[in-house]
Amino acid sequence: DILKVKTTYETSPNIALVKYWGKFDEEYILPLNSSTGITLSTEDLQTRTTITLTNKYKDIKFLLNGQPHPVSGRLKKILKFFEDKALAALGEELVPLQEGESQDTKRKTLKEFLNGDLSQLKLKIKSVNSFPTASGLASSASGLAALSVCLFDVYHMKEEYEFQRSVIARLGSGSASRSIYGGLVEWTGVPHQYLQKKFESKNNEIQLSEQEYEQLSKLCIAKQTHNETFFEDLDVFVVAYSFESKEVPSTSGMLQSTQTSELLKYRALNTAHVHIAGVKKAIEEKNYNELARLVRLDSNQFHAVCLDTTPPIFYLNDFSKNMINFIHQLDSALEYHVAYTFDAGPHAVLLVHKNHTTQVLRAIYEAFSINDMSSLSQRAQQTLKQAMQSEL
Ligand code: ATP
Repeated sequence: DILKVKTTYETSPNIALVKYWGKFDEEYILPLNSSTGITLSTEDLQTRTTITLTNKYKDIKFLLNGQPHPVSGRLKKILKFFEDKALAALGEELVPLQEGESQDTKRKTLKEFLNGDLSQLKLKIKSVNSFPTASGLASSASGLAALSVCLFDVYHMKEEYEFQRSVIARLGSGSASRSIYGGLVEWTGVPHQYLQKKFESKNNEIQLSEQEYEQLSKLCIAKQTHNETFFEDLDVFVVAYSFESKEVPSTSGMLQSTQTSELLKYRALNTAHVHIAGVKKAIEEKNYNELARLVRLDSNQFHAVCLDTTPPIFYLNDFSKNMINFIHQLDSALEYHVAYTFDAGPHAVLLVHKNHTTQVLRAIYEAFSINDMSSLSQRAQQTLKQAMQSEL
């Protein structure tokens, strides 16, 4: 007899409009500053994860995009949470109904079925990203969000653990806590008084009690602040530069910045929260010029922090810089107020008012001599193709 508990979940990358960069604490994954981002729920930016808990295998299996993938230390931490908190309760549940069995069949509990040895249950994780992995398009955010939510389902963890979803997802990847929700999602950073203490202390190290860490952990969770309808006037496009893996992974990059950049401290204390408040206000007032101004400003400040890091980190390349210049030139000529934002990678994410989408895409297509449309997200390709056909 082979036992299976299976669940599937889909998520998409959440691209920060106000960036997360730097951890207050490496173990609990508490962010230095709050961040807010938009979940790009489209088919060409999607993670689909299926997890099976079964007694069929001797060990955990993890397939990412069809290839065996190592089970990282972070993933082990996540799995331990479920083994500690949920496995015993799952063992008391009845064995799932097999095909052809009726509700009245006398069923054993999972624990009885496995002769009391729940450790026979092993996970098979299969995940596929419909977009490049580890190239700065937030695959880790999307991937770890899908994985965490799936695990909550597989282990039948109840609603009282709702806040834990954020806590668990961020153990895998900070921004994954934002990817759990749709729309605009804010992930709260640690309060100012803690930042000040940290930055004033020697080597930026502060001692807190476990209780304080637990409190901060519950505070630093992600929440949807605006649902998708707030963006109905906007199109969001990705113009990807290349699909190679980046040289400096985000995790080590932000650690270097936290240890060496003075600008990062300034940003965490003075600007990130101001940018977030401004972005939310601009969205509520549908003030897309202001939204574009703030989103650009925040992206550029984040990359300035990278440059202020020792050794400096360069995520933007010539393509990215040309795109930035191009958008500003477009502003002076036509006032389309396109918002651009660049994560830890060279790809541009553009927020464009729907009235201007076709013109903006057309202009980008011509200016960047895009002959391989695969660098554009699918929706952008469709829009552009339609526009070009209607002109013929
Ligand atoms: P960034 O977050 O900086 O924009 P990124 O997420 O594309 O970029 P990394 O931060 O380097 O890149 O993270 C990539 C790692 O995330 C992968 O090597 C893998 O371990 C993990 N990952 C990516 N996709 C998935 C997935 N679908 N399921 C589980 N883990 C994933």
